[in-house]
Amino acid sequence: MDLNTVEEIVRPRDRSALGAWEPGDAWLAGGTWLFSEPQPQLRRLVDLTAFGWPALEPGEGGLTIAATCTLTELSKFRGPAGWLAGPLFTQCCEALLGSFKVWNTATVGGNICLALPAGPMTALAVALDGVATVWSTAGDERSIAVADLVVGAGRTTLAAGDLLRSIELPVAALRCRTAHRQVSLTNLGRSAVLVIGRRSPDDDSTVFTITAATVRPVQLRFAGPPTADELSAALEAAGPAYHDDVHGDPRWRRALTATSLESVRRELAEPA
Ligand SMILES: Cc1cc2nc3c(=O)[nH]c(=O)nc-3n(C[C@H](O)[C@H](O)[C@H](O)COP(=O)(O)OP(=O)(O)OC[C@H]3O[C@@H](n4cnc5c(N)ncnc54)[C@H](O)[C@@H]3O)c2cc1C
Repeated sequence: MDLNTVEEIVRPRDRSALGAWEPGDAWLAGGTWLFSEPQPQLRRLVDLTAFGWPALEPGEGGLTIAATCTLTELSKFRGPAGWLAGPLFTQCCEALLGSFKVWNTATVGGNICLALPAGPMTALAVALDGVATVWSTAGDERSIAVADLVVGAGRTTLAAGDLLRSIELPVAALRCRTAHRQVSLTNLGRSAVLVIGRRSPDDDSTVFTITAATVRPVQLRFAGPPTADELSAALEAAGPAYHDDVHGDPRWRRALTATSLESVRRELAEPA
């Protein structure tokens, strides 16, 4: 839809061209959410695409994903053979049930910053211990775990004008075998439960990440593959707050979280 209060769109090419952040400013990434509903508070959009950041930069330490990387770019990425978590990229993109037009423009950063519980890029980044690089309006830069960046439904720890620049996924997480379960209330509906597990080939440490069902990402970590009782006790102890919206009743999400976790646990317990 037209955002008819917007008076200006700027396209900075580098950080020095950013200028002062004003009330009524917003970062524009893919715009798939920004242009989907009225934004009467907005006066200026700062388009991130002109920065020209490389979408995906694999290296010895892991993978750097630019905030402006689109879902299409991410879904097509194939890392080194030893990065067993590779299929998770496409699986998480597929958890966003948009058309190819949405996939071609929606970005990893936009998805995380929107902070919907059903944000599959948040799920991916948290499940693989992603660390965000954030630029502040003062000109400095900080790192924060994505698990600590998204703190509620539509809530992040970003201050006004903070810019998510990129996500780093460490190689130790990328080397893990993964399993996931995704549940929606309706056939093509938004995720109501998304559980991702990973098991390290190095030390068998096993990590479960719950999103969509809960208002913020929840992680359950184990030194080795847990038993069913250990996993359900850890979930009970974590006591997550379950999300409540048209995509699922919290009691239903809670029940399906438990069954999805157990299903992922069983898959990861099998020999590689
Ligand atoms: C058919 C359809 C289905 C969808 N399904 C889902 C779904 O299942 N799950 C889900 O989570 N979303 C869903 N969405 C919503 C949205 O499309 C996605 O969340 C998308 O990934 C948002 O990315 P974007 O690049 O388009 O963000 P934009 O719309 O450009 O921006 C979203 C918000 O994030 C801010 N922002 C963007 N990039 C940055 C950055 N780098 N730093 C700081 N702030 C930033 C913007 O200012 C804005 O407030 C759906 C949308 C459609 C149209």
